[in-house]
Amino acid sequence: MKNDKRLMVTESTLPKFEDYIAEIKSIWETKWLTNMGEKHQKLENELKTYLDVSNVLLFTNGHLALESAIEACDLKGEVITTPFTFASTTHAIVRNGLKPVFCDITEENCTMDVSKIESLINENTCAIVPVHVYGNICDVEEIERIAKKHNLVVIYDAAHAFGVKYKNKGIGQYGDLSMFSFHATKVFNTIEGGGVTFNDPKYKSILNNNKNFGILNQDEVVFAGGNAKMNEFQAAMGLCNLRSIETSIDRRRVAYERYVENLKGIKGIRIMDKQADVQQNYSYFPIFVEDFKVTRDELKDKLEEYNINTRKYFYPLISDFECYRNEHKSDDTPVAKRLANCVLTLPLYQELTVEEVDFICNAIKEIGA
Ligand SMILES: *Cc1c(COP(=O)(O)O)cnc(C)c1O
Repeated sequence: MKNDKRLMVTESTLPKFEDYIAEIKSIWETKWLTNMGEKHQKLENELKTYLDVSNVLLFTNGHLALESAIEACDLKGEVITTPFTFASTTHAIVRNGLKPVFCDITEENCTMDVSKIESLINENTCAIVPVHVYGNICDVEEIERIAKKHNLVVIYDAAHAFGVKYKNKGIGQYGDLSMFSFHATKVFNTIEGGGVTFNDPKYKSILNNNKNFGILNQDEVVFAGGNAKMNEFQAAMGLCNLRSIETSIDRRRVAYERYVENLKGIKGIRIMDKQADVQQNYSYFPIFVEDFKVTRDELKDKLEEYNINTRKYFYPLISDFECYRNEHKSDDTPVAKRLANCVLTLPLYQELTVEEVDFICNAIKEIGA
């Protein structure tokens, strides 16, 4: 049976049209479109509270936020990171003139395997850039211990981890800095957008310089910064979407739990276990297809016949990208390599209904029968 409506792997969350119009109306009065206007300031304050962090600065997108966060640490040498992520993570390291060194990930939740970090550290290592992939949190405590011992900076790619809490603390409180993405496809969006969170206020001025040409005031420019400011229309979208974020995550939770209920116990389909002490954001629903009736790629193609769109997040591994494969070998991270070859991310978004989840799961069962 084919679904009439094509189920996409994700669907952007939009506020009610009228609510957005009401929010942007004042822009026609102030004529203030960008450069840290009223909406920008308001969103920054509200996000500080929601993310439960002491500092947050907004950016025009998550990638420039991450590049800026790395630049703010004034690093040289090698950075330990993971190949099982979006291109942005590694590109941000490389575009800062640093050398990525890939650490393997864990089978259980696809985050950096902390038992393998120390063997990659040498006198050139300056930082660790782990990823809270799918909103699964890294072993933040062990990473902190290793970083302290070796005097390394820790910058988290928390693009997937909006609103996630660990031991009742905002996930952005861990590490030196964290980057959150507010891209259209993420749990919370400002159309495009991102934020950097940090505990130490010393990062504030350098991050502001990075995002606004190093302009200190009308008379002084102190740094060769770029331009990565969030504009007022983006901030207005953020203000609207933040009002319904709890409902939005709760609706994702319902769909997520329905998937778990439907898919647990199917031979050849592995789903991830819930992490202890973590308040999740239900951002993605990856499955791992191993020893199933068909391969991952065949399952993906067959689901398309049911009008169900899925994505191979994350395949290929970053170390297999054309721009990196000459210098890196994906065989050095065997767990990441195997998981990249069998992962398939199923549709998950606010509006996905339990009936649609049932339809997707039944399709998977039919294909496996
Ligand atoms: C989305 C994403 C980014 C980049 O964020 P943008 O807001 O799209 O620039 C970085 N890292 C990961 C893991 C992401 O998923």
